[in-house]
Amino acid sequence: MKINLPQQQTKIVCTIGPASRSEKTMTDMVRQGMSIARLNFSHGTLEDHKKDVAALRSVGEKLACQLPIFVDLPGPKIRVGHLGEEPVRLQKGNRLILASRDSGQSEPLIIPVTYDRLAESVKPGRTIYMNDGFIELTVKGVDSQGVHCIVAVGGTLTSGKGINLPGLKVFVDNPTDRDLEMMESALLLGIRIFGVSFVDSAETIERTRDFARRRGTKIFIIAKIERAQAVEHLDEILEAADAVMIARGDLGVEIPLEELPTLQKEIILKANIRCRPVITATQMLESMVENRRPTRAEATDVANAILDGTDAVMLSAETAIGDYPVEAVSTMARIAIHVEGKRRSVRSSKFLQNILREDLKKGDISVPDMISLSVSETVEALDVPIVLTPTSQGATARRIARLKPECWILAVSPDRHVRQFLNFSYGVKPLSVDTAAVFWYEPVIKGLLDSGRIHGGDRLIITGGQFKDVPVGTDSLGIITIPESRPSPA
Ligand code: ATP
Ligand code: MG
Ligand code: MG
Repeated sequence: MKINLPQQQTKIVCTIGPASRSEKTMTDMVRQGMSIARLNFSHGTLEDHKKDVAALRSVGEKLACQLPIFVDLPGPKIRVGHLGEEPVRLQKGNRLILASRDSGQSEPLIIPVTYDRLAESVKPGRTIYMNDGFIELTVKGVDSQGVHCIVAVGGTLTSGKGINLPGLKVFVDNPTDRDLEMMESALLLGIRIFGVSFVDSAETIERTRDFARRRGTKIFIIAKIERAQAVEHLDEILEAADAVMIARGDLGVEIPLEELPTLQKEIILKANIRCRPVITATQMLESMVENRRPTRAEATDVANAILDGTDAVMLSAETAIGDYPVEAVSTMARIAIHVEGKRRSVRSSKFLQNILREDLKKGDISVPDMISLSVSETVEALDVPIVLTPTSQGATARRIARLKPECWILAVSPDRHVRQFLNFSYGVKPLSVDTAAVFWYEPVIKGLLDSGRIHGGDRLIITGGQFKDVPVGTDSLGIITIPESRPSPA
């Protein structure tokens, strides 16, 4: 059995787009540390996405790596319509009209938008943001032509950029009919993991899940936290979703920017407590869209997200349309590798362990929490490089992974889709092994020895459960020592 473990435990999500569409670039990105591919269905055509899925699968097969793909659904996001090939440069003081019909008018400039009830949502004096908040417009008035605005902060605008109306009511259902159509197409392509945009309550997640269930499919949902309402309803959203994404692009416009850094920490901690994988996203290495090297602030941002306890970090425009997609991945991987080696010396990164230790002292800890805490403490005390965890739905592996132990968690699950989703968790490598035999783990150990991942004298942890098919049924933890000289076969 061959076991290829990546160089870094932090998962790197890469958005695929024109800059990363070729199999060559995808291959290089995987070699540099890409762990998950994201297809943003807000951009490009279904034909493009189908080709991307085929290319990603071919690359995954050639490199013999699991390369999960997730489809990010647009949700009720208002966007700029088609602007033609040339970007539109907006300067402070320019007058323009936002309209749902494109009349191609240039004086005053008409910008098409994808929402035909904009006039009902806005009021004179309010601010409209475009392109993740880079451009600001002030609403002057509304008439039959559309919404008249003055540019307060200028910038360059291209087709499809997002529009935010913080605090204003948007009259669109979530998921939208278009989301459901896109989901239907993605399900047919075999996609089982979906990002749901602009979630504001658990209901959005349930409706999305029900749609797939009615088609006889179980899906995994990543709730994108990017609205003030989502922050208010975070607990119920974490309960209903399988994972969360801190979608800082829209979130940083929808709430005051200064609240973002501490909110990121709160969301990560809550997701860790609930055993939900969490992705920190947007502008992580944004300047690498144009430059070969990131800014110091960006490098620090990636490092801090990892120290906060994120499972995954994400690249958006950097890999979708940037000039240096491969370099962006290798830069992220280098930062991750270094930070992971420093976890022990950065005290704040052991925050969740300390919470569990306090629970333990108070005599108020559940069996699953006890197991995960014991695993992480054993890993630290005995320098255990590998934890082997049979897990039917993945819950035990996620419960251990949230504590960010300095080891690989080999998660053995019989379900292919569960294995795909396990790739989102920090330091988790899913495996397909038949656990029916008593010594089922022997081929895994042999594979690890052969690949030089473990050596004689190393200790391994194997978790287990007395009763099969019980959710979170893990109730035991074994520590085995690999013999110094490998015993010869009898
Ligand atoms: P979201 O709010 O879902 O993040 P976004 O518009 O910010 O939406 P990103 O996925 O962050 O989109 O990607 C950043 C930019 O990369 C987009 O604004 C778009 O210009 C470009 N892009 C992403 N995917 C594609 C694609 N498949 N085809 C063309 N351009 C793309
Ligand atoms: Mg974005
Ligand atoms: Mg968004």
